[in-house]
Amino acid sequence: MDNSFYLNQQDIEQQSCYEGRKYENRHTTFNIRTSAGHLPLQRFLTWLSGCPLPGQIPAFKRPPITQVADTIGLFLVLMVVGVILLESANPIAYIGLPLIWLLATGRARKSFITIAHQVVHAQLLTVKKKRAREFLNLAVGELIGVLFWVPSPDKYFQSHVRSHHKLLELATPLDQDGISIFRLGFLPGKSKRDYWLLLAKHLANPLFYIKETFIRMRLRLLSSGPLQRLASWVFLVSLLGAAYTYNGWQALMLVYCVPVFIGFSLSGLIQGLGEHGWGVKMDIVGKLARVLPVSQGRFLFDAFPAPSNRIAQLKWWSRLITYHLPARIAILNGDVQHHDWHHCDPRSLRWTESVYARADSIEQSAEDRHCIATHSWSLLESLERSFDAMSKAPPLTKHWKDQLDRNNEVHVI
Ligand SMILES: [Zn+2]
Ligand SMILES: [Zn+2]
Repeated sequence: MDNSFYLNQQDIEQQSCYEGRKYENRHTTFNIRTSAGHLPLQRFLTWLSGCPLPGQIPAFKRPPITQVADTIGLFLVLMVVGVILLESANPIAYIGLPLIWLLATGRARKSFITIAHQVVHAQLLTVKKKRAREFLNLAVGELIGVLFWVPSPDKYFQSHVRSHHKLLELATPLDQDGISIFRLGFLPGKSKRDYWLLLAKHLANPLFYIKETFIRMRLRLLSSGPLQRLASWVFLVSLLGAAYTYNGWQALMLVYCVPVFIGFSLSGLIQGLGEHGWGVKMDIVGKLARVLPVSQGRFLFDAFPAPSNRIAQLKWWSRLITYHLPARIAILNGDVQHHDWHHCDPRSLRWTESVYARADSIEQSAEDRHCIATHSWSLLESLERSFDAMSKAPPLTKHWKDQLDRNNEVHVI
């Protein structure tokens, strides 16, 4: 039971131990986070873990525009710093580059899955005047599309709002956001070992990155709307022209292409696999009660060791800095840790503080919840739980296999 992916009312009743919030399970308890409640830097630990302390409230309300600045703005700053590092021909450049890749990958991912995502939900910038709001939201979404070679807002709206959020399509072969995952072979009914091997095979295969790059280039340069195509062609010619004029091919490849094409796809596949149980609970497709059982919160934290155990404490800090922190920066960034909450309340303007909004939502609905929101505590655990649920699910029926064959949509991971 401890490792089961999702708890639903039936599972809980069968356990005969459900007493409202008293029910304790690694995937429902917050005790792992509170075990470090006595440490300094609590705001930082809440941001990193994605889990607040009981009763903790946001220090201040962050305007959405600052989220735009820390994604697109910081990405551009990182590009400049990367080019300066390379130009300096200093050996330190090659130490600094991996850090640039990690940060720039995270900024590119957050631009897509948090900022452009809120554009398609029409709630990124909350300017009062409707026309100005729509124009500014669209402008940010289009800029992200050009800069990172991802779908423009109109296409993203179709795949995400019109398909992924639809109960009849969420995490099924009809899901236009998730279609790439199914196409890469992550179908229900395989063994957990098979999923891990498949993931390793894709991540180690240069063809995976080449194909993803090709899909994105074709999407932007050939199959988007006329204005989007024009913008992407202008951007491409500018990039190549600048590299040619200033002999900056190395900078173009190492500073821009590595995070935007390699880091982005690597991070996207890992993120996407832990986001939902793909092809799971297919017997209740279309029901609201399926949303939480195929979703999970994704915290990044370990239980803090006993005060007397200094070695274990050192290990705890090491894992926090070298494992959980990079995962938060490059893979589970923005509000994606609380994607299960987003599915329950997609119109909420609290996406900028989703860490608190998810906890409040669980607190408020603890007594009458049909299904229980659950969470993992590390990046690998989020994948393990997804694979566990998919391995326990039966293979797709002929009906769903036919749907998969017929789904011709192309979507960026
Ligand atoms: Zn989703
Ligand atoms: Zn959404």
